[in-house]
Amino acid sequence: MASNIANPANHLPYFFGNITREEAEEYLMQGGVSDGLYLLRQSRNYLGGFALSLAHGRKVHHYTIERELSGSYAIAGGKSHASPAELINYHSEEADGLVCLLRKPFNRPPGIQPKTGPFEDLKENLIREYVKQTWNLQGHALEQAIISQKPQLEKLIATTAHEKMPWFHGRISREESEHRILIGSRNNGKFLIRERDSNGSYALCLLNDGKVLHYRIDRDKTGKLSIPDGKRFDTLWQLVEHYSYKPDGLLRVLTIPCPHLGSENDVVFNTHPPLPGTPSKLQPTIGHPPDEAPFNPYVLQRKRGLTGAEKGDQREALPMDTEVYESPYADPDEMKPKNVTLDRKLLTLEEGELGSGNFGTVKKGFYKMKKGAKPVAVKILKNESNDPAIKDELLREANVMQQLDNPYIVRMIGICEAEAWMLVMEMAELGPLNKFLQKNRHVTEKNITELVHQVSMGMKYLEENNFVHRDLAARNVLLVTQHYAKISDFGLSKALSADENYYKAQSHGKWPVKWYAPECMNFYKFSSKSDVWSFGVLMWEAFSYGQKPYKGMKGGEVAQMIERGERMERPEVCPTELYDLMKLCWTYNVDDRPGFVAVELRLRNYYYDISH
Ligand code: ADP
Ligand code: MG
Repeated sequence: MASNIANPANHLPYFFGNITREEAEEYLMQGGVSDGLYLLRQSRNYLGGFALSLAHGRKVHHYTIERELSGSYAIAGGKSHASPAELINYHSEEADGLVCLLRKPFNRPPGIQPKTGPFEDLKENLIREYVKQTWNLQGHALEQAIISQKPQLEKLIATTAHEKMPWFHGRISREESEHRILIGSRNNGKFLIRERDSNGSYALCLLNDGKVLHYRIDRDKTGKLSIPDGKRFDTLWQLVEHYSYKPDGLLRVLTIPCPHLGSENDVVFNTHPPLPGTPSKLQPTIGHPPDEAPFNPYVLQRKRGLTGAEKGDQREALPMDTEVYESPYADPDEMKPKNVTLDRKLLTLEEGELGSGNFGTVKKGFYKMKKGAKPVAVKILKNESNDPAIKDELLREANVMQQLDNPYIVRMIGICEAEAWMLVMEMAELGPLNKFLQKNRHVTEKNITELVHQVSMGMKYLEENNFVHRDLAARNVLLVTQHYAKISDFGLSKALSADENYYKAQSHGKWPVKWYAPECMNFYKFSSKSDVWSFGVLMWEAFSYGQKPYKGMKGGEVAQMIERGERMERPEVCPTELYDLMKLCWTYNVDDRPGFVAVELRLRNYYYDISH
């Protein structure tokens, strides 16, 4: 599936995509260059930026629209606007610095789509290769990583993509670069780029009439790259693309990339594993006081490939950087124990509790595996009661968990019968989402969107596999890092039989009624659609920073409120798009309510959109 990040201009009929300034002028000529005729195109030197081409006085004027750090758009020095379309609307009424008002859009001729740049076409493959090589993932785990981390991966790729390009030769000397260019064909415009130092400065080496010219490429304080006095670019590949279509100050345009010697197709992303025991420089919460979000050391020891541009600087840990992204049993050396029963001798428990409930307590521990001791969370049954029903409940929970394997769901490592019955699970150190958000009010709306999107991915997996959770709530979403959520607590979960898409409870139990859909309350019917209802409440909790839903109300009052057609109000920081989605999750009629496939896609698109 071509799941490009939604370009905020793709829907505009006068947006032409990645065309050159000259192409824009040609189009406007076709339109008769009447005063005020305009079109919009992608900026070729600013990531996420645009250019506006406007005809006036038989000439075409071009304005760069920069995407600001805040995510808004502005013509350099001008007013900020939420989207390119709003900026266009504004300048249709106010010239405000332009040569004239925007009077008439020049729309794409029929059959012409916004042009994608060469990098856009490569991007999907680059991202896939990058994830494969950096985290050694494949199949389902690979796809899930790409879907959930696309915005972060795009940024990584944008700054490292040149390493994959045939024209990038890495750290070689000036002499070596001349040697490489002069071997073989001596076509004018043959070129390569070499690294000059590790501060991000490069050199462009270009063949002109048998001689190699060297142009310095410097990086300024804001990270932009330029040949002295030349245009500035966010990335090397944009610079190369620019000088490939016009010399713009160089002696000639770049034509063919100088091939690598030897196995030139083997340029791979660096995948240096960190030295054992080396503390990672990565921090899960960059920019926030460290005491507000507990530092989580064990998740950062995973193999990870820091590539050129990020060497030396920090980036946030992605889910794939942690030890719990893939199942420990994905490791071919690690045998799954028979009957999922674990050897007590391999398990050590720590003092103190992570949490507790009617069943007993949850403690932190370590389980010895082939690759070392794995931090685990252990649900331990109180054994004073000796009630077989409680043990059966735990075994049912274990039985459900055993069948699930997804990065956004807490996995079971196994069960252990010793001084008590114990359920051994992956550890999610930062604990329940509601509590985390209560204590960390600085967490951004985008961060919350990222987390609830991950929950929707885990729920989509459950739905696909015909499990109903029945206790989906912010308290049962646990955090591995500030950017990595997992669904937990399968105590009420059921596997659906092949012939039914719902579970029918025999009687009313101790139910989390504020999270339950009307059909659960009225007919005791539980399906993935009723989990969708709960997911809406979970979203509400998340955007309310862990507040209790339907505050001060009793279960019965909540049910009456729902029957009257009333719903909770929009939390203060919740974007309207996501409040609309919440309300959709609270659709009264099961058949009209969306499933997780639709919910996940809505969240994904919104998340990509705000991360652009
Ligand atoms: P209950 O059925 O009582 O709600 P849960 O499975 O939700 O039991 O666990 C209770 C508490 O124990 C959680 O709220 C959390 O604080 C802690 N806990 C449970 N599982 C884990 C885990 N895998 N990692 C870290 N903490 C956990
Ligand atoms: Mg719970």
